[in-house]
Amino acid sequence: MPETVNKRGVDVLHDPRLNKGTAFTPAERDKLGLRGLLPPRYVPIEEQLERVYENYGYKESDLAKYIYLIGLLDRNETLFYYLLERHLEEMMPIVYTPTVGLACQKFSRIFRRPRGLAISLDDAGKVDQILGNWPYQDIRIIVFTDGERILGLGDLGLNGMGIPVGKLSLYVAAAGIDPILTLPVCLDVGTDNDQIRFDPLYLGLDRPRERGEAYDQLVDEFIHAVRKRWPLCILQFEDFGNANAFRLLAKYKDVGPVFNDDMQGTGSVALAGVLAALRITRQPLADQRIVFLGAGEAAIGIAKALLAGLQDEGLTEQEARDRFWLVDSKGLVTRNRLDQLPIHKRPFARDEAAIGSLAGVVAKVHPTILLGVSGQTGLFTEEIVRTMAQHVQRPIIFALSNPTSKAECTAQQAYTWTDGRAIFASGSPFDPVKLNGRTYRPGQGNNAYIFPGVGLGAVVSGATRITDSMFHQAAMTLAQAVPDHLLKEGCVFPALTAIQPVSARIAVAVATEVYRLGLASVPEPPNLEEAVANAIWKPEYRSLV
Ligand code: NAD
Repeated sequence: MPETVNKRGVDVLHDPRLNKGTAFTPAERDKLGLRGLLPPRYVPIEEQLERVYENYGYKESDLAKYIYLIGLLDRNETLFYYLLERHLEEMMPIVYTPTVGLACQKFSRIFRRPRGLAISLDDAGKVDQILGNWPYQDIRIIVFTDGERILGLGDLGLNGMGIPVGKLSLYVAAAGIDPILTLPVCLDVGTDNDQIRFDPLYLGLDRPRERGEAYDQLVDEFIHAVRKRWPLCILQFEDFGNANAFRLLAKYKDVGPVFNDDMQGTGSVALAGVLAALRITRQPLADQRIVFLGAGEAAIGIAKALLAGLQDEGLTEQEARDRFWLVDSKGLVTRNRLDQLPIHKRPFARDEAAIGSLAGVVAKVHPTILLGVSGQTGLFTEEIVRTMAQHVQRPIIFALSNPTSKAECTAQQAYTWTDGRAIFASGSPFDPVKLNGRTYRPGQGNNAYIFPGVGLGAVVSGATRITDSMFHQAAMTLAQAVPDHLLKEGCVFPALTAIQPVSARIAVAVATEVYRLGLASVPEPPNLEEAVANAIWKPEYRSLV
């Protein structure tokens, strides 16, 4: 069925959803008034791919590559996704971490075209009207940030907009969510990052970050305006600071389908990585001693996900908690610090004497699993890793802090200091490492393995809530999706090239959970695999005649 188009000529070429560039057929050129506006030769998408990939190759820096890709997205959405899907392994580090971090830092300086909605404190009272300015009527996934804690980079204010844009492009590339259903949003509430705020080219509000009533009112107005307009739209909290992330999720998690990827997505992907690592060591989760460096959003999200995994193996909640040691900037999180601990850390406080350092905790606990989510580089020192490896045959070490420059240790260090015995994964990608004639392949614990599949499953079933149990199902599915040949190389995540089928499997598992919980608004299809497959959008040009 040809698409109905009520635009002509350059207006068609300037609409990234309609534009096909040189791939408009002669008949389309006639009908849409494009003759002469394009070079005469018709070029199919495979040939366009060759051209854009070659152009991409001319860009020497990662930032230049990012700018090129976003330019293509703004020009021709279909071709952008056609390119991204075919080179996902190469380009994910450009459209997402680590390069997106740099792109956010420079967002206002490299700005070319608006994308998504920027809603500022000055817009209070008019949010519904602003949503109405968005040209598409059926929005099913919104990723939104207030820019306070972008990756491990801190407060970037409006410049954080690059993150929702990047994440939503991964929903499309990794799970085939139709881009027309997605909307990136940045709530601009000011910034306390003076370097950004006083940059003469900064595009956000020129004021310190709002932390009072006006902040809560804007978030509330936004969430309720979305709910009224798009009741089934998934709202994904992204890169909010600690003080807001925990309380806002608690406040809004039952106001329709809502989740926080930094906690729930991270928890799920880390649980999957741990379960896959235990497929290598052939040990139960219940036998592990798990030390966390960091006790923030990621750590608490992971601890909650592991808690559910441990309970699956028959442990009580308390027995499960006893498997965790959380270390923050002040040392081991213990009950004698309870008065000073923020509420999210308290359930994981241990009833034992204080230990001031990670080295002290590792020496005492002999962890089997060491998880780095501190946002600080280099804290898994040689001494710490070697101490761990003295007591454990296959130390499981995940240095998850992003971007790459913030990782607690590198892949090379983890393998070298353990004589190749470590099972290593990271948040941002590391290249394979050659050591003593063997190649070790570090896994990337990228949330992109989880949230796109969760989103697709929720969209297909019309989920009215997003629950922790859905993320749990996603983790179990992901852990099982790692092929044996990758586990043999020590890699605990599937190849990014296989991400679409993995996301589809996750979507089926998530939708199954949605139906089991009675949280679906779409009648259960006779064949869920087929329903998921049919919902997948493909970057192909639709006929316009
Ligand atoms: P956060 O700010 O909520 O938490 C950071 C925690 O680290 C805090 O508890 C803080 O006390 C602790 N910390 C800081 N300095 C420390 C030090 N010197 N020693 C010990 N602890 C210290 O941040 P977050 O959202 O939890 O994210 C943390 C890191 O995890 C970031 O770099 C982020 O990019 C990364 N992350 C990775 C993934 C992934 O790989 N899939 C997902 C989410 C977050």
